[in-house]
Amino acid sequence: MSTNAFRPGKVIVIGAGPAGMATALSVHQAGHQVTLLERYREARPAGNILNLWPPPIKALGLLGVDIDDLGAPCYSEFRRADGRRRVAVNLPDEVVRDYGGGFIGLLRPELYQRLLAAMPPGVLQLNRAVDGFEQDETGVRVHMADGEVLEADVLVGADGIDSIVRRTLWGDSPKREHNLHIFGGYTFDDDIDAERGLCVVSHDRTIQGSWTSIRNKGRNGFQWWVLGEHNAEDEFTGDLHATATRMGAGFTAPLPQLISTTDPAHVQRWVLRDRKPLKQWSKGRATLVGDAAHSTSPYAAYGAGMATEDGYFLGRRLAGVDLSDQAAVRTVLDAFEAPRKPHTARQSQQAYVLGQVFHRAPRPLQPVRDLILDHTPLLQKAVGESSPREILSQIAEIDRVEEQFRRIVR
Ligand SMILES: Cc1cc2nc3c(=O)[nH]c(=O)nc-3n(C[C@H](O)[C@H](O)[C@H](O)COP(=O)(O)OP(=O)(O)OC[C@H]3O[C@@H](n4cnc5c(N)ncnc54)[C@H](O)[C@@H]3O)c2cc1C
Repeated sequence: MSTNAFRPGKVIVIGAGPAGMATALSVHQAGHQVTLLERYREARPAGNILNLWPPPIKALGLLGVDIDDLGAPCYSEFRRADGRRRVAVNLPDEVVRDYGGGFIGLLRPELYQRLLAAMPPGVLQLNRAVDGFEQDETGVRVHMADGEVLEADVLVGADGIDSIVRRTLWGDSPKREHNLHIFGGYTFDDDIDAERGLCVVSHDRTIQGSWTSIRNKGRNGFQWWVLGEHNAEDEFTGDLHATATRMGAGFTAPLPQLISTTDPAHVQRWVLRDRKPLKQWSKGRATLVGDAAHSTSPYAAYGAGMATEDGYFLGRRLAGVDLSDQAAVRTVLDAFEAPRKPHTARQSQQAYVLGQVFHRAPRPLQPVRDLILDHTPLLQKAVGESSPREILSQIAEIDRVEEQFRRIVR
């Protein structure tokens, strides 16, 4: 740190998902003492399949995470089930070149391993469930499930969609059920005849059937997912692999082959739900990042990406700040969340709307919807042009914030 007056503060982060791990790395780089509390015995990935856009890749690299060969660079398209293209997501060549492709396909455990490898010793504490917290002008007291009380200057809730930090700050808000479910899996079968370097998101009248290239520990493979309507109140009792096979059967190659060559043990299912975006994330000395702040349906394929960006930006904002000073903490927490809220709310709302339009439109409207999607530029504008715009603006914001950060920590 260049400023002699800088006094490192204490930050507690709850939850070792992508948001919490990125926050811990960024806060550590900002020179504060950080503790990352995870309730489970390990930082365990919530699922197998994952794609990341360039901004989180860039943030990870700046956080000291090894991003070399993290996944397979992919160009993305939306298509009809018969293979006809509806949308091309075109990013500028230099972005594709600099950040390993437009959209990189990887397995989620690999991201966790790389984040953990970058974590300084002593930061992550496992088997450390948090029960609650309280705060006043002087600090935060975090109540652990085992009765211990920890003290900090700033508390970060990175504790996912059921965040107790969010609930304590802003009260309970109902989950928004999307009444959809998704099945995902992956395969490294060498006999698959599919184009590499591609992410194809395709739809028939009611089902999304998608696949992308992946790379994992130097191996090339594919991940896939199928998504359709499911009443959230109904228990699912079917066989995962058999159901996914049925849902993917009407799609063009290679989706059915990808599903059939997937080990049934590598197929998972999730229901889609979120909570409506909050107007304010931070209160006093506590704030939120990731799904705790803006839970996002997998339809966006950006929840983990935005969680990583949140963590990166929050740590950068805390650099050089005297965390014992409540007014200074308030100023930086407000400055942190102000640009994050519109970006994350747009993504999570768009993910919700796309899910409803593609899978829950009344039957008589489905042919009309598909005519519009096939013969007007609506989807290209809504997805093919808005995604690159958001991505470029996030990269520019990271560049701007990183330059300020480098000046502070020089
Ligand atoms: C099927 C599927 C596909 C997806 N695909 C993509 C994709 O392609 N790209 C993408 O960017 N995103 C994707 N997402 C979204 C992404 O997974 C989430 O947005 C992301 O995991 C959110 O990260 P997080 O760190 O905020 O929360 P989480 O990953 O939920 O982590 C929260 C952590 O907090 C811990 N915790 C909770 N409560 C406590 C407590 N009281 N004490 C201590 N620890 C606690 C939990 O154990 C957990 O480790 C997908 C999601 C699904 C379901």
